Amino acid sequence: MKETIRFAALAAIACSFLTFVANAERPPNFVVIFADDQGYGDMGCYGHPTLKTPNMDRLAKEGTRFTDFYSLAPICSASRAALLTGSYPLRTGITGVLFPRHQIGLNPDETTIAEVLKQANYATACIGKWHLGHLPPFLPTAHGFDSYYGLPYSNDMDPIQGENRNLDRVWQSRTALPWNVPLMRNEIIVERPAQQQTLTRRCTEEAVRFIRDHANRPFFLYMPHTMPHVPLYVEDEFYDPDPQQAYAATLAEIDWSVGQVLEAIEEAGVEEQTLVVYTSDNGPWLGKKHHGGSALPLRSGKFSTYEGGMRVPCLMKWPGKIPAGKVSREMGATFDLLPTFAALAGVELPKENIIDGKDLSKMILGKKRSPRDRFFYYRGARLEAVRRGPWKLHLRRPRNRPEEIRSINLYHLPSDIGEQRDEAALNPEIVKELTQLATAFDQELKSSVREVGSID
Ligand code: MG
Repeated sequence: MKETIRFAALAAIACSFLTFVANAERPPNFVVIFADDQGYGDMGCYGHPTLKTPNMDRLAKEGTRFTDFYSLAPICSASRAALLTGSYPLRTGITGVLFPRHQIGLNPDETTIAEVLKQANYATACIGKWHLGHLPPFLPTAHGFDSYYGLPYSNDMDPIQGENRNLDRVWQSRTALPWNVPLMRNEIIVERPAQQQTLTRRCTEEAVRFIRDHANRPFFLYMPHTMPHVPLYVEDEFYDPDPQQAYAATLAEIDWSVGQVLEAIEEAGVEEQTLVVYTSDNGPWLGKKHHGGSALPLRSGKFSTYEGGMRVPCLMKWPGKIPAGKVSREMGATFDLLPTFAALAGVELPKENIIDGKDLSKMILGKKRSPRDRFFYYRGARLEAVRRGPWKLHLRRPRNRPEEIRSINLYHLPSDIGEQRDEAALNPEIVKELTQLATAFDQELKSSVREVGSID
């Protein structure tokens, strides 16, 4: 009897040791939830007075909330190209928004996060809005993702001529679909027009299934939500007929989705092996009024290089690794995720292309300051602003003479987050240094741009 107990105890110790070794050696899973047009102020934990986002707030409580985190463009496609390649959008040739008429996309020669992680045999999935080229050579399955489910571009593209696309009316009708946008699985269109009311729920179910099916090996789940980009649609249980509540209802469903993903990770028993990132592709679409979000207290929103266009909410959770309940003012950006994930997974960075992103792993684990002390704000191919430390310099140029500088404004962000007090006249040395920094960087970047993918 004694021997049996001793054997059982030894077996249990051996078993837990093997599990410990397996977990210690296993590289972490990465889940990136990427909202579309969600503003800096659009979460309870970022101070929104009325929006209810309990699951996003839970990410902040169980992980770290970043106050100075950026997307690389104030618009969709360019922002996504940067996140996935770790490069400034201009280097990838995708600086604007792709439309269904375009014959271009993310060049197959680019190396995405999914391809980087494939070196360590990750399972990879893209579930949601792609927007980096809808033609076969540019789709997620051609860029390192094992599977893809979602819309190839924005949900307000492919308008059906003659149909009423008034956003209040569409919201109130529940069934109107005046956009003929396709839903795809891998390279095949499976539904057209995509039934947008059920899109967030169906993408969530796909994500939950992917996590459940890949609990035994490292995985990368990239989940770029279609919404809260307009038009807004939700499932019945989140619906409120008042169009003034459309944005809150849509965000409530995305928040529910976050809760489902977190629950799936827990149920799969991989919570401690999984780094979850939640962020947004650009600022809120203010022109859409109550169908758009808020960047408060930042200035402006989508399409702008003021902070409201490019500073985005960012939450990261990894139990036991990333400090819980912490607010970090360290600088970071979405294109830093590629080198950060590569470092955490123990794989090499692509050698053939310049990677602008920096490895933030030690910073997010709370061990070091951020290696990122500067950030360049591009709108299209034009450099409009630069930040170094607390100072941000805006360089306004005439549209037809980009080599000229028309006006200069300098803001001290920690004391003036809303970019209201121009301090250029008081700080000529800083203006001079930042202007030189911006000019030199712009020249370097423009001398090493890569070709956009094209089927011509
Ligand atoms: Mg967007």
